[in-house]
Amino acid sequence: KLQRVQDMVAFVTGAGSGIGRATAIRLAQEGAKVCLADLKENRADEVKQQIESFGGQAIVADVDVSDPKRMEDAIRQTFDQWKRLDIVFANAGINGTLTPIENMSEQDWDRTLTTNLKGTFLAVKCAIPHMKQNGGSIVITSSINGSRKFSGFGSSAYSASKAGQVAFAKMAALELARYKIRVNVICPGAIETNIGENTKKTPELKNIEIPVQYPQGSQPLEHGAGKPEQVADLVLFLASGESSHISGTEIFIDGAESLL
Ligand code: NAD
Repeated sequence: KLQRVQDMVAFVTGAGSGIGRATAIRLAQEGAKVCLADLKENRADEVKQQIESFGGQAIVADVDVSDPKRMEDAIRQTFDQWKRLDIVFANAGINGTLTPIENMSEQDWDRTLTTNLKGTFLAVKCAIPHMKQNGGSIVITSSINGSRKFSGFGSSAYSASKAGQVAFAKMAALELARYKIRVNVICPGAIETNIGENTKKTPELKNIEIPVQYPQGSQPLEHGAGKPEQVADLVLFLASGESSHISGTEIFIDGAESLL
């Protein structure tokens, strides 16, 4: 049976956990060779082992997505390993510190914007030289917080970074069309991952929270959060030739959460 991304090469950031992990595994199951880029090398190592256990191919790259040199090196390493680059999943991201704007330090603001938005820019920029000959597909992970749902109290920096990713993806889709590189952005609602682990909430947060009718994270379709594997199926579609005429699109994957 022909696999859906057979012999393609993918570079996935945040591949050690959550959505990135599930997507890296899904792409490998469908025949892609995958570079697993993440901060914490050991978690990406586990993903590599899992991929190899079913006969897939993966390499691990220790990358801070906000570091231009590491990003450039890791993408070049991926290209050198397999002599092509077809798919980039710019997915690594953090919630950062959730706090009212008047309490948000410049440092907290910068950390969120640098990881989520600059990290996305760097992944796309560094991939272009390796993708422009044959074309390919870039998928960026934003959030429903970027344009539709703003009930994540204290997330002004996060929401700004996620909105920035949507605008960036659309400009990139226009610019890169001449190389046959498609760029799309996905906007998940609440997904069961580890993203809450490193989220810092300050006590002042309670001063701005207003009661909402539905508990945050509730989704009409799921009665709870979605699963990383459900997001992985969408990314697989956007990465594969099945979406060959789709570029510049923002796709919500939230079990209708953002309609509440
Ligand atoms: P996660 O924490 O499970 O995984 C994120 C991964 O990114 C981690 O392995 C982490 O080490 C890595 N990472 C963080 N900062 C990095 C950096 N500077 N350099 C390299 N890697 C870094 O979270 P997740 O939910 O899978 O998040 C993936 C993306 O999905 C993020 O962009 C997030 O904003 C987005 N998102 C998540 C949800 C949700 O509810 N989980 C909802 C909407 C959007």
